[in-house]
Amino acid sequence: MAKDNLTAVLHGIEDLRLEQRPIPTISDDEVLISMDSVGICGSDVHYLTHGRIGHFVMTKPMIIGHESAGVVAKVGSNVRNLVVGDRVAIEPGYPCAKCVLCKEGKYNLCADMVFCATPPYDGNLTRYYKHPANFCFKLPDHVTMEEGALLEPLSVGVHACRRANVGLGSKVLILGAGPIGLVTLLVAQSMGATEILITDLVQDRLDVAKKLGATHTLLLNRNDSAEKMQQLIHDIMSEAPDRAIDCCGVETSTRVAIFSTRSGGIVVVVGMGAPDVKLPLFDALAREVDIRGVFRYCNDYSRALALVAKGKVNIKQLVTHHFDIKETAKAFETSRYGLGGAIKVMIHVQPRNTNNPVKF
Ligand code: NAD
Ligand code: ZN
Repeated sequence: MAKDNLTAVLHGIEDLRLEQRPIPTISDDEVLISMDSVGICGSDVHYLTHGRIGHFVMTKPMIIGHESAGVVAKVGSNVRNLVVGDRVAIEPGYPCAKCVLCKEGKYNLCADMVFCATPPYDGNLTRYYKHPANFCFKLPDHVTMEEGALLEPLSVGVHACRRANVGLGSKVLILGAGPIGLVTLLVAQSMGATEILITDLVQDRLDVAKKLGATHTLLLNRNDSAEKMQQLIHDIMSEAPDRAIDCCGVETSTRVAIFSTRSGGIVVVVGMGAPDVKLPLFDALAREVDIRGVFRYCNDYSRALALVAKGKVNIKQLVTHHFDIKETAKAFETSRYGLGGAIKVMIHVQPRNTNNPVKF
């Protein structure tokens, strides 16, 4: 185990540095984690390129990274659920646990949420990181550290499908075949959806979706009208989908999602784009199409872990590239420009697979 605390710190736009940071001191409810695997998310790249996402603005250097797993190196005196040596996935946000939303169980909406690599809070692309023990999920022996890290985006997919009430026989339209669209596809399949059409503007991404089991894929042309896109979708699915999950974050895709969905159906918007967009609200109202938001996840980590541990979802196939923490700059470049068909880029804080048991 390394004794240094090499850490990836974002100092500002286009200024990501590797530097030493002190090893954190834990409190009674926390664990110290020797970090193992950290995936790069679109939001990490966005902070690198823009220094902000919406009203989350960087005003000081921030440790990057939040899709992560590691090994417990030390436990606080109150910790009962973990022991030193446990391999854990880290749910990267923890709420106040006191407010009305937390009491109602909607802790993802807590105004005092501390979330890794969301300003002003540090992330965990570092060798040693501390976290509340009750937001760490012990991985069974056969689940790898990479899979543990991937529970983060997978939990977004679980939350989106739960918000959409996907169930047995659902006909689901997913817009966008980026990492989030793809995890949503995997979860929708596992929840019983029998027909899934996924769209994108890039054929390579659709090829991946097809390999992952999408019933249909549709390459859209960015210049087509929403009406034309809707027609293409209905032609392929032979009738309107009852669920649409927008994983793009652009106005056109949300418009298409609303127009395409069957009357009485549900549109879930996961993609986050411009703060103000033009949507066909009357169409949604007059046909009782519910439009629902998604903010990260809430009580979804254990479900995501169960899906992976029981072999219901093969999440590791989304990882296309691996880098050592010392190659963080290259890893970000690969993710940012989609080099080599990059989908999910994984950074290894420890040499790859050293904390993984032999697969059987
Ligand atoms: P991504 O950029 O890798 O993928 C988006 C995909 O959508 C791309 O493949 C792109 O080609 C495709 N696309 C763009 N416009 C399209 C259109 N009109 N029709 C069809 N496809 C189109 O991003 P990602 O990492 O997969 O994340 C997707 C979105 O989800 C982002 O907006 C991200 O901010 C958001 N997100 C939201 C949450 C949340 O809690 N709500 C969590 C994670 C990510
Ligand atoms: Zn709260």
